[in-house]
Amino acid sequence: TPVTAPLSNRFAAEFPELAVPWRGEETPDPNVLVLNDLLAADLGLDAAALRAPDGVGLLTGTSVPPDATPVAQAYAGHQFGGYSPRLGDGRALLMGELTDREGRLRDLHLKGSGRTPFSRGGDGLAAVGPMLREYVISEAMHALGVPTTRSLAVVATGRDVRRETMLPGAVLARVAGSHLRVGTFQFAASTGDVGLLRRLADHAIERHHPTAASADNPYRALFEAVVEAQADLVARWMLIGFVHGVMNTDNMTISGETIDYGPCAFIEAYDPGAVYSSIDVGGRYAYGNQAAIAQWNLARFAETLLPLIAQDQDTAVELAMESLGRFATRYTATYAAGLQAKLGLPVGLEDAVAVKLGEELLDLLHSNHVDWTSGFRALASAARGDAEPFRGLFVDLAAIDEWLLRWQAVGPDPVAMDRANPIYIPRNHLVEEALDAATGGDLGPVQQLLQVIQRPFEERPGLERYAKPAPDDFGRYTTYCGT
Ligand code: AMP
Ligand code: MG
Ligand code: MG
Repeated sequence: TPVTAPLSNRFAAEFPELAVPWRGEETPDPNVLVLNDLLAADLGLDAAALRAPDGVGLLTGTSVPPDATPVAQAYAGHQFGGYSPRLGDGRALLMGELTDREGRLRDLHLKGSGRTPFSRGGDGLAAVGPMLREYVISEAMHALGVPTTRSLAVVATGRDVRRETMLPGAVLARVAGSHLRVGTFQFAASTGDVGLLRRLADHAIERHHPTAASADNPYRALFEAVVEAQADLVARWMLIGFVHGVMNTDNMTISGETIDYGPCAFIEAYDPGAVYSSIDVGGRYAYGNQAAIAQWNLARFAETLLPLIAQDQDTAVELAMESLGRFATRYTATYAAGLQAKLGLPVGLEDAVAVKLGEELLDLLHSNHVDWTSGFRALASAARGDAEPFRGLFVDLAAIDEWLLRWQAVGPDPVAMDRANPIYIPRNHLVEEALDAATGGDLGPVQQLLQVIQRPFEERPGLERYAKPAPDDFGRYTTYCGT
């Protein structure tokens, strides 16, 4: 019996050029590992029904509600700077759209649901560990206030997948404002069908940036809205120490949501050069490069929109370049405001003073290898009069004492600091520990980690180990793509 989730097929119906109707591969022995009850409720879905066989079929793409048309979406993309004309959902399916309690349209999307016409050499599958990893980290990002795709469920399939070893397979069900990517526009533009491109842009405007519709030049306004959304997003990543790790143009959304939690990681010791991904040997997607890369990706997005921005190509390029210039302004403003909040600086403090305090602290964090997250949290204690936990993180005490005196003189607000500085993030070693347990059949550590990261700013007793950086014997952390 089909499930009765009220899924629409809007993307599938409006963009047949970008969508191949498809189904999920049968799952021999499906088993719900985690299910996000609150998110299900937000989407008007009954969590108990999702746990029943029909619901599990919906979460794996094997049973399809009557009005739904699951599709694999086509997209292109620049991967590490090199263009691939045809990527697409190689192991994913857009099940359709749901309307949430706030009336917003939300994609229900599956990852690891089997081969599709876009799979190329891949098996279309995903392993339990990486899908739980996306679930945990995306939910942590949401709790940290960062725009992101959400995670609704991870269902183990009962089928093993071949990686370096055989691993238990799983399907992740995720939810997003949409799965429109820069790469979706690249694919549409590459067809040469300007009508398709315009429909796609109109769809993106209606869905994500509706004020652009009434601008003098709606497509230029769309571009600017995406520039600003991405500038805000990357600034927020930087403020929490998040390294996306694979900022290819197919992994950058038009909505401004973080997407595709593959080789991502959180920095510990503050270092602009931090890289975790095993394949990012040149450091293209290093922590401190993320703003520059976002601009590069947005330039690729602008190229797709040129025929819509102006009839004359030179005019269109000039307008787009000028609009891209907004990235730096917006990024700097969002980052600076965020850093001021992390430092607890009073509003109205002279900009020059605030910027100098911020930059000097970053230099000291870097040269003293101070853990980003616990360092800022300890600084709030210093604002309360106990500077020792913070000072203890530094080797160069003379330099930090001199800085602390000037910082204390401006009257930092510890309460505001506790709201800006998370105590609990999904630290790399805790995530790995929880995933190892889950792969071995014990979901306890994942459940516990989820409890912790869902309230990242609220210090709770008994959770000390979740607030500390990895022990030295954890060693250098390396992450992997597409596992
Ligand atoms: P990503 O690096 O996760 O952004 O993925 C890049 C491309 O590879 C996308 O088109 C994915 O759909 C595809 N892909 C990743 N893993 C697999 C897999 N196991 N089977 C088929 N396609 C895959
Ligand atoms: Mg991707
Ligand atoms: Mg991926």
